Amino acid sequence: MRAVAIKKSSSEKTTGFQEMGTLRCDGCGEEFFIGHSPQSVDKGVAEKQAKWLEKVLAEEHERDGKHADRIELPD
Ligand SMILES: [Zn+2]
Repeated sequence: MRAVAIKKSSSEKTTGFQEMGTLRCDGCGEEFFIGHSPQSVDKGVAEKQAKWLEKVLAEEHERDGKHADRIELPD
């Protein structure tokens, strides 16, 4: 449990994660909560993860247009 993106409309829990920001998908308007575990909060990493997530979401639209409720973020 280090860093995750959680779809805001899902029932996935964000409990235990520190909110680092929200990313809105350009393709469908779905919003994702970006959370870090409190021991590894890093604003610079969160910004990189937001860019990574933006790309991943765009790629998902090129394929079948569906996003998982919970996406593990790379360090
Ligand atoms: Zn989308």
